[in-house]
Amino acid sequence: MTTNYAVQGRVAVLTLNNPPVNGLGLATRVALTDGLARALADDAVQAIVITGAGKAFSGGADITEFGSPKAFAEPNLLSVILALEASTKPVIAAVHSVCMGGGLELALGCHYRIAAPGCQVALPEVKLGLLPGAGGTQRLPRALGVEPALNMIVSGEPVKSEMLAMLPGQQLFQKIAASSQSLMDEALAYALEVADVRPLPQVRQLPCSHPQGDAYFQFARNMVKGMAKNFPAPLKCIDAVQAATQKKFDDGMAFERETFLNLIWTPEHRALKHLFLAERAASKLPDIPADTVLRDIKSVAVIGAGTMGGGIAINFLNAGVPVKILEAKPEALERGLATIRKNYESQVKKGKLKPDKYEQRMALLSTTLSYDDLKDADLVIEAVFEHMGVKEAVFRELDRVMKPGAILASNTSTLDLNHIAALTGRPQDVVGLHFFSPANIMKLLEVVRGEKTAKDVLATVLALAKKIKKTAVVSGVCDGFIGNRMVDHYIRQAGFLLDEGCTPAQVDKVMEKFGFAMGPFRMSDLAGNDIGWAIRKRRYVEMPQMKYSKTADLLCEQGRFGQKTGAGWYDYVPGKRDAVPSAQVVKMIEDHRAALGITPRKISEDEIVQRLVYALINEGARILEDGIANKSSDIDIVYIYGYGFPVHRGGPINYANEVGLFNVVRAMQRFAQNPLDDAAFWQPAPLLVKLVAESGNL
Ligand code: NAD
Repeated sequence: MTTNYAVQGRVAVLTLNNPPVNGLGLATRVALTDGLARALADDAVQAIVITGAGKAFSGGADITEFGSPKAFAEPNLLSVILALEASTKPVIAAVHSVCMGGGLELALGCHYRIAAPGCQVALPEVKLGLLPGAGGTQRLPRALGVEPALNMIVSGEPVKSEMLAMLPGQQLFQKIAASSQSLMDEALAYALEVADVRPLPQVRQLPCSHPQGDAYFQFARNMVKGMAKNFPAPLKCIDAVQAATQKKFDDGMAFERETFLNLIWTPEHRALKHLFLAERAASKLPDIPADTVLRDIKSVAVIGAGTMGGGIAINFLNAGVPVKILEAKPEALERGLATIRKNYESQVKKGKLKPDKYEQRMALLSTTLSYDDLKDADLVIEAVFEHMGVKEAVFRELDRVMKPGAILASNTSTLDLNHIAALTGRPQDVVGLHFFSPANIMKLLEVVRGEKTAKDVLATVLALAKKIKKTAVVSGVCDGFIGNRMVDHYIRQAGFLLDEGCTPAQVDKVMEKFGFAMGPFRMSDLAGNDIGWAIRKRRYVEMPQMKYSKTADLLCEQGRFGQKTGAGWYDYVPGKRDAVPSAQVVKMIEDHRAALGITPRKISEDEIVQRLVYALINEGARILEDGIANKSSDIDIVYIYGYGFPVHRGGPINYANEVGLFNVVRAMQRFAQNPLDDAAFWQPAPLLVKLVAESGNL
């Protein structure tokens, strides 16, 4: 039963019971209205308390019903709330732990609300590109006041119940219980207290106005417009709350409904919903049972205290896991430690970290120069130079010293994990943990599954990723894994665009307008152009058929490695990160074009976007065909969290489906005709061709 029914004395208690967060799916809505009818029909019942079992009052809509007709089937949430509001016996919501979205709208339909302290209260619909669609925009401003309600609706962020209860004049919570434990006793006592009150109070009857309404809402729009630039929902939230101050309640409800339904049809909502579901799906692998017994990870060792090793260590220290770092030389260890300290100290200075927390975290960190000191660690992550010879020596040592059952991980970006695993006598314990730079900040973690990686090792590192607040995506072994394998084609296309007539600044500007955090050339300057150079030199030997523009090599030959050398595709002023277009680089590109006998042409913004993004899509499709990614949504997660792909477009694969695979393939066939491009690359991946024939989606 998704809603339990019980009678305690003269009070009926309806307990939402739909784990994990009492989502308001159809079955729960039916059970709740049935419970209400039963309570109303029972003469012995004088009041009704609604609460939630387990970890929440209610987290709102049931995500398994997203986008399905069930979400709107009767009794829909609006009807349930109307029924509660119209109840002839008082209905008291006893909320605790989590009261969000539809859960809060349900509570607002009750006559009274009592909250446990610490309850997270929110209307998070805006985070899915929507607004609250079951009266939230009309009732919350009435119950809480216009300004705090608008703030909650536009931000979607949770606020604790006891803080809300302190707002002057608020009618959201009539009572805050002494504790979660006493909530039900207090709710039952309160129910008896109000059992005879008539008429029953309804939030809809409360006044709703703002003394300087026009100016206030204009200010709010000005504030939100800049922040929400690619998303329509936040401004629509303001419209709906303003409607609450201007229209009669039922007219405001109609306005909210219409606006909600319009938002459901926007690509931005589809993108956000896709990413929400994709993130949840990413850590689920078809062949790894949910009840796999995990290995216990109580301590971690990191090999190498360079750029990545330091950042990786910080993740675990922040999560309260002791870390021991090993370096080859004492100076390198000192340097690495100083960087970690500096990182924490700057957070303390900015007030983001309390000094005692800093001390606690540093106390978890220890260092060594000897492998024998690592033997007790449950997980070791190697982050030494990207050179197989160096990695080989490290893994041989790890195999010698680490205790049986320890997980041996490598942060390699390009090297063959299966080869690394084979260097040890325990390939089943070896896995790739590909962090992104800066490793303590970037949310993405590519987990590289070797041929022999054990299932419990994978399950353990996926759970650990959550603990250190990363979003993990599993990749098979190939050159570049999911992310770098795709970005290579994107960067190649960017190079061809230079050969044909673009400048780096022009390409970057177009891609940033499309929504990328950074265009390809600014990104390369940040990552270091020398990294790509080294990879290309290897490719020229291993894959001579692969075509590249030579401009990036010419750039590196001038020592222009990017921000770290003060010059790359752009010029940089010391101490600043602003990319200044470089006349020298533009001339270098022009000279190169002239040497190749190319007459530059004006390339449209559409062509720039299509060639770069479709390059990602085609390689993404190949990655799916090859079984490197388990599902297409994983690719979107990689691109959103690792490469700054515009969130409102939902990742390259979601974008491909939005554009239509037919159109994508047609454009690829056109690009293949361009003699300055790589015709072989633009052969559409067979999976794309098949899906176009079936009118399917990726
Ligand atoms: P780095 O040069 O900044 O750091 C490497 C560190 O390893 C140095 O401090 C060095 O002293 C130490 N080291 C070298 N050999 C050692 C040994 N035998 N024993 C112990 N310590 C040793 O390099 P990085 O950028 O941190 O990269 C490390 C690894 O992470 C590489 O495999 C790289 O491909 C990968 N990676 C780098 C990035 C990035 O953006 N920098 C991103 C993802 C993955």
